[in-house]
Amino acid sequence: MIATEYPSIRSRESNSEATHAGLRAGEIDLERIENAVRDILLAIGEDPDRDGLLDTPRRVAKAYRELFRGLHESPGVHLSRVFEQTHDDVIIVRDIEFFSVCEHHLLPFTGKAHIAYLPSDGKVVGLSKLARTVEVFARRPQVQERLTDQIADALVEHLDPRGVAVMVQAEHMCMKMRGVNKSGSSMVTSTLRGVFRSNAALRGEILALMTGAGR
Ligand code: ZN
Repeated sequence: MIATEYPSIRSRESNSEATHAGLRAGEIDLERIENAVRDILLAIGEDPDRDGLLDTPRRVAKAYRELFRGLHESPGVHLSRVFEQTHDDVIIVRDIEFFSVCEHHLLPFTGKAHIAYLPSDGKVVGLSKLARTVEVFARRPQVQERLTDQIADALVEHLDPRGVAVMVQAEHMCMKMRGVNKSGSSMVTSTLRGVFRSNAALRGEILALMTGAGR
């Protein structure tokens, strides 16, 4: 009896392990999100089994997988593809559109990032790599200040530039939709590194360029 039961127990165990193993480290647990969304629907007094809501938990799970996939990505993948140019001029990339989710309310905040850096030894990256870097950090539960800092830190780490400036302008749905401080629902954050911080003349120049870009 024991001998015949044992394999069935084992196979059941290995099945459940397989379910867990099917979720590799760093992946997003869609089933868990689905269950949670169903609970939320019940909690707000909805009927998750009515026609219109039947597929909602699965749709939300898939959407969250997109919105939060940056948690499992590294900007190094994009910023390590450095090439060299002969001039060490300031490079400014403006109006990088992004979509993020505020970690306090799990509601979207969206806007634009402006990036400037002064390369050292001509080390630069393609424009699309900067956009990808913004995306890696935006697609996480975020606060705008940290998003701004993380973009700057990644540039410092991977390009070792002489200066970095990052400015982020965004509108927060948690403020707009809830009627909190409606007029102030657009927020600007910025951070400066290297010579853009230490050299007052450069700092003024770069901030003027970036602020002008946002108007
Ligand atoms: Zn919020």
